[in-house]
Amino acid sequence: MPELPEIEATVRLLDAAVRGGTIESAMAPGLATMRTFSPPLDALKGATLTGIDRRGKLLLVHAEGGGLPGPSTLVLHLMSAGRLQLYEKLAGPRDRTSRVLLRIRGGGAASPAEATTGPGGDAGPEAPDALGAPAIAVPGTEAPLRELRLREFGTKQAAWGKLLPDAELADDDTLSTLGPEAWPDPPDLSDLPPRRTLRGAIRDQRVLAGIGRTWSDEILWQAQLAPLRRCGDLDHAERERLRTAMVEKLGGALDLYLHGGTGPDGKRRTPLALPLPDKLPLPLQVHRRTGDPCPRDGTTLLAVHYEDDEMTYCPTCQTGGKPYKDRRLSRLLKD
Ligand SMILES: [Zn+2]
Repeated sequence: MPELPEIEATVRLLDAAVRGGTIESAMAPGLATMRTFSPPLDALKGATLTGIDRRGKLLLVHAEGGGLPGPSTLVLHLMSAGRLQLYEKLAGPRDRTSRVLLRIRGGGAASPAEATTGPGGDAGPEAPDALGAPAIAVPGTEAPLRELRLREFGTKQAAWGKLLPDAELADDDTLSTLGPEAWPDPPDLSDLPPRRTLRGAIRDQRVLAGIGRTWSDEILWQAQLAPLRRCGDLDHAERERLRTAMVEKLGGALDLYLHGGTGPDGKRRTPLALPLPDKLPLPLQVHRRTGDPCPRDGTTLLAVHYEDDEMTYCPTCQTGGKPYKDRRLSRLLKD
């Protein structure tokens, strides 16, 4: 599923493209998608889309006006197979991947360069007040209708949304239970739960928001830390290494998505542009590369499997020459 760098790149591009636009209609063809009923999704009709940003792996579409009781936020969770995309063409009635559809006219007068620096030129994601002024419409031209579409691939309907007045946002447990952001300025990690494994803790959204199974493998490899070590066993220098790896890995991926360049995997990438591809090309070095040589020391990368999870690690530079024995792992991986 998309994690912090993918979601951050997505919201920056979408925000620059639609901010200031008018929502002409809002629908949820995925019947089980919306988890709130008041205000109804339809209250977004006629509202101004004031910005798109994120908190952890949640996408936040901000709006005001229309039938809304006040400034409100559509919170979207993509789960494992959802994507938020912008289309010039409206979805057909038979598009079974659509979960939420927002039809938007206008907006997006922000320069494309703004997407790469963030609203107001600030690279940080934690600036909900700095969304910038709504775009100014060009008189005499009617902007085409575009569709912001939450799509979900596969058979499961798991992606969901909540429309909440901003006054209720902080109290909603979706947001209130999230830990601090893993990027750009994570905490010093001395508060990681001591009995948990590193990989379990750093991808627990209540501990740190934004990391999932993909980037946890990359970060722990970068930090040369064994994924199943207990958090409480880390000394100060190791915690610092982990924190640095987190900032570098997540920030490095975002930078590649927005600006292009040569990734740590040696592949050249062009900057992402709308419409976003269904599958972003992730610049990975170890995750899902089981059997490949470790980019650091050439040792064959190993994996531990648990249900649909796969943890990849290097038995030389991460676990000190000792491969994990499979028997005790399912219990630990569950952590
Ligand atoms: Zn290695």
